[in-house]
Amino acid sequence: MKFMYFFDNNLKRYTMYGKRMLHPAETGSYQNGIRTVRQDDVNIWFYTKGAQTIAIDSGHLDFKDAEDAVKSIRIDPDSIRHVLLTHSDVDHCGGVDRTAKRKLFPNAQLYLGKGEEVYFDGNFCRMIKAGIPLMNPVRLDSYETVRDGDIFYCGDIKVQVIEVPGHTAGHVCYIIDDKVLFSGDCLAVNALGGYSLFDFFTQNPTLNKKSLIRLKEIIEDSSVEVVCTGHSGIWDYSPKIFAHIDESAKSSLRNPFDPTASKSIRG
Ligand SMILES: [Zn+2]
Repeated sequence: MKFMYFFDNNLKRYTMYGKRMLHPAETGSYQNGIRTVRQDDVNIWFYTKGAQTIAIDSGHLDFKDAEDAVKSIRIDPDSIRHVLLTHSDVDHCGGVDRTAKRKLFPNAQLYLGKGEEVYFDGNFCRMIKAGIPLMNPVRLDSYETVRDGDIFYCGDIKVQVIEVPGHTAGHVCYIIDDKVLFSGDCLAVNALGGYSLFDFFTQNPTLNKKSLIRLKEIIEDSSVEVVCTGHSGIWDYSPKIFAHIDESAKSSLRNPFDPTASKSIRG
């Protein structure tokens, strides 16, 4: 297994234990036609309008009982025709990776930011830890690329793309039906508001902060009501969401980012 998948599936929960960094939403139904499945530390989001449901991100590679979890919120994974990927990290694309034993959404068209393709030719590393370059092992069979400002429809569902590079090279956020922002991993949010996501996981923290200033301006001028994050759950939109974007989120055993988060990402 590729190292970043091995880390994600086997080591991450130990390195994160007690730090209370991440606080995903529990599996279930929320406002504005939103549902989610929690896979330990990350959410797969779903948005439904009429008879159509789209997914935003796809969770971990071969996550235990992944299909049953989706069925538990009354969604048939085989019925998903569109998956909007915020970025190509293992915890967001694992469910649809070509190496998955069974893809979570086998009938879906995938959408991914054009800038994420730099990871796929194996020459651009995702991060360097202890001097070791770590490559992004995600590979997708087929996908459509999206760019900043793109607006398209999945059936009746309107999708607007905003490029927010920084966490990864081609990270994008999606505004759905002008009302819901799916922010992926640019923001970490706690009771005090939103911060630039933890530097440890972020390819270019300075660029992420710059992108967040622009995202804030776009959202302030929009009619967005709800923000769904990759690892900090779901929030009603208020200016607090962008209150601390000039700072990186930090967490430690002594000073946890979110004291209301559980100690274990499995808890
Ligand atoms: Zn993530």
